[in-house]
Amino acid sequence: MIILMNAPTEEELTYVLEKLRQQGLSAQFFQQGKHTIISAVGNSRNDDLDKYEKMAGVERVIPILTPFKLVSREFRRQNTLVQVGNVIFGGKAVQIIAGPCAVESYEQLLETAVVVKSAGAAMLRGGSYKPRTSPYSFQGLEQEGLKILQSVGQTVGLPVVSEVTDPRMVQVVAEYADMLQIGARNMQNFALLKEVASAKKPILLKRGISATIEEWLMAAEYIAIGGNSQIVLCERGIRTFEPSTRNTLDLNAVPVAKQLCHLPVIVDPSHGTGHWHLVSPMSKAALAAGADGLIIEVHPHPDEALSDGAQSLNPANFLQLMRELEVLAGALGRSMVKEGETNYERNS
Ligand code: PEP
Ligand code: MN
Repeated sequence: MIILMNAPTEEELTYVLEKLRQQGLSAQFFQQGKHTIISAVGNSRNDDLDKYEKMAGVERVIPILTPFKLVSREFRRQNTLVQVGNVIFGGKAVQIIAGPCAVESYEQLLETAVVVKSAGAAMLRGGSYKPRTSPYSFQGLEQEGLKILQSVGQTVGLPVVSEVTDPRMVQVVAEYADMLQIGARNMQNFALLKEVASAKKPILLKRGISATIEEWLMAAEYIAIGGNSQIVLCERGIRTFEPSTRNTLDLNAVPVAKQLCHLPVIVDPSHGTGHWHLVSPMSKAALAAGADGLIIEVHPHPDEALSDGAQSLNPANFLQLMRELEVLAGALGRSMVKEGETNYERNS
C-alpha cells in the first residue's frame, strides 16, 4: 500500500514508519512537494487501510494490488521522465539509440557514431562486456572499449549506453557510460539489480529472454526500491517455439507495460528479430504500438561485425529508416529529434 502524508511532523512520520516496521512491512518514503509518500510492501491486512488512515498526518492510504508497487501506474499516474544527458525518455519525443552491438575499435565506433548522429539518433550504444552464448565468441574490449565509447560519445556529442554484466563492474561501467544497460540474460540477476540501484545512473532494463511482463516489472521494482526510479524498460523479444526469427518481438508488451507502470518503454527490433531486413518494419510497428524509443544496432560494415552483424543495419538503411520513422512519429503525434535541436525543445 501507499500511505500519503500531508506535511507530517517528524514525530508523525516516525510513528507511521515504526508501526509499519512492527507489522513486518518494509517501507520506503519520498518527499513530493508538501507530501510524504510511503511505499509499504509486505503482507498487509484488510483492516490496515483504516488503521493507517486514522493516524495523525495521514491524508490517504492507497492499496496497490500489483506485486510491484513503486513502478506501478497505481502509485504514479503520470509518465516518469528519464533523463540521460539532454535526452528525455517518456515525453513526446521518440528517442533513438543506435550503434554497434560491440565496440570493436575507435575507428569503427567513430564511423558509426558520425552516421547515427547525423541521421538523428539521440544516443550511442556499444557493448564492451558482451554476454555471449559461446565462450569462444568475441567477449568485448572491456574497459578499453568503455574508454573508446566515452571518448567517441563526447567527440560527436551523444550520451552513451553500455551493458554491465557483473555487480563488481558497476562502478567501472558507471564511470564511462551515461546509462547502464541490464541485458536480457541478467534481468533477474538480483545482486546486479541491487548494485545498479545505487549507481546514480539511469538504467536501461531489458526484458529477460523468458520473462513474463510481471517478472520484468518486478526486476524494475528491485532497482526502484534501491532508490533509483530512472529506469527505461526495453522489450527485446522473448523465446518462443518460432524458429524463423531469433526471438519473437512481443509488441503486446509495450501497451501492457505502459498501462501497468509509469516508466518509459522502448523496443529493440535488432535482438527482437535477429535479421536486419526485419528491423525496419518492426521499428515502425513498435512506434505504432506506443514505444517511447528504439535501440537499433548499426555497423558500418555488418558483414565484418564481430557480433550480431546479421541483425545490424548499414548506414544507408539506418538513414532510410530514420526518415520513415520521422514521418510516422509525426502521424502519431510524437516527434523525432533532429540535428541542431535539443530534446528539451522537442519535449516542450
Ligand atoms: C545487446 O544489446 O547487445 C544485447 C546483448 O542485448 P540482449 O541482452 O537484449 O540480448
Ligand atoms: Mn547485440
